[in-house]
Amino acid sequence: MPSIADITGDTRGAALVRRAFLLQTKLKAAQTRTARASLEYDALAASLELFRPGAIVPWVSYLFPTELLSSYGITPMIPEVASAVLTGTDLRGPVEAATGRLRLSRDVCSYHRTALAALENGLLPAPAMCLGTTPLCLGKECLLDMLAVRYGVPFFEIRVPLPPDEGEARREVVADVADQLRELHENIGRWTGRKPQLRKSIDLSNRASVAWGHVMSERLAGSLEMNGRRVFATVFLGQLLWGTEAGAKDFEKMLTERGRRGLTVEPMADGRLRKRLLWLHTVPHHDRELFDLIEKQGAAVIFEEMSQMHLEKVDPDDPFPGLAKRLTDNVMWGTSARRARLTLALAKQLKIDGAVHFNHWGCRHGVGSVPVVRAAFMEAGIPFLAIDGDALARGGPQAEKSIQQMESFLELL
Ligand code: SF4
Repeated sequence: MPSIADITGDTRGAALVRRAFLLQTKLKAAQTRTARASLEYDALAASLELFRPGAIVPWVSYLFPTELLSSYGITPMIPEVASAVLTGTDLRGPVEAATGRLRLSRDVCSYHRTALAALENGLLPAPAMCLGTTPLCLGKECLLDMLAVRYGVPFFEIRVPLPPDEGEARREVVADVADQLRELHENIGRWTGRKPQLRKSIDLSNRASVAWGHVMSERLAGSLEMNGRRVFATVFLGQLLWGTEAGAKDFEKMLTERGRRGLTVEPMADGRLRKRLLWLHTVPHHDRELFDLIEKQGAAVIFEEMSQMHLEKVDPDDPFPGLAKRLTDNVMWGTSARRARLTLALAKQLKIDGAVHFNHWGCRHGVGSVPVVRAAFMEAGIPFLAIDGDALARGGPQAEKSIQQMESFLELL
């Protein structure tokens, strides 16, 4: 495999390496015809375009409605996704070293520290605009704001009030967020001088939503068991493709058995049923040991909290309220009490045997609500394990401790 530096350069040689690497990934997608391989190829192909000279590079937060960008034919640069991808390549060493040298508290979420270090060392393209949404966390807004100041580019933040603990966000709140999205969509046109094709982008996003919503309903109904870790990784990359033709086709591939290959739970060799786990918050992207252990011990992560998004279509004639609602009512937005209520309801619906919360390093938002979520699960008599870790780490003493904790937890189940 070529290095990222080889494929992201702007020389003629880099362009050739890029083409060869893309062809190789495309071949794999064509051979397997799975949603997973196609999505990997399409996300890679779209992201590599961001490294071309003159490309418009918007740095956006993870929950940003990327349809506002695909309307203008622009691919987002999502720092969380970029950090996870880079730390999985042969550039991991240099990126880690650069991250260690940053003049930034080590307490900051490692997704953001890594992205910043990669940008400062020329491994990610500089932003042409920074676009955030207050969900899920303040940390990424600080990063985007800081980068906008440093590069002298626009920063626009969609401000989303917290939803109520019970019920849905008020109509006026959704309308206000919709107005902000409408204004931003117009601004992107002014900043880039491009003509929007929002209707097309929404139609494509809706195709993906219909497929993804169908898969998720089957999972919730118990008629389809998918491997939570692999699904997480696929949907995580899929964030880059909402509102694109490629994204629509890739999510639609999940509707067939062949397309879902590699994403479903492997049955036990002896025919026994696996213990069912619900995974909360992000996953360790590079440490497989925890998941190998889960599988070996006869359990499976059958659902993941963070994939509950883009489940419903938005009105193509007036898309902003629908896009707004995806933010105002996101399952991870709001108070700890709301998160506890929603995750517990999910656990009961799925009839899980236990829940695992991944306490990602530096994530105030995720880790802060754990005591309340744990108490709710304990009260309901559902085993709950919170393990500390860094989603971008590979091995180390913390990973070993997590494995021991997981072993004890699985024995208990
Ligand atoms: S892990 Fe937490 S701090 Fe990091 S980007 Fe996600 S929500 Fe923000």
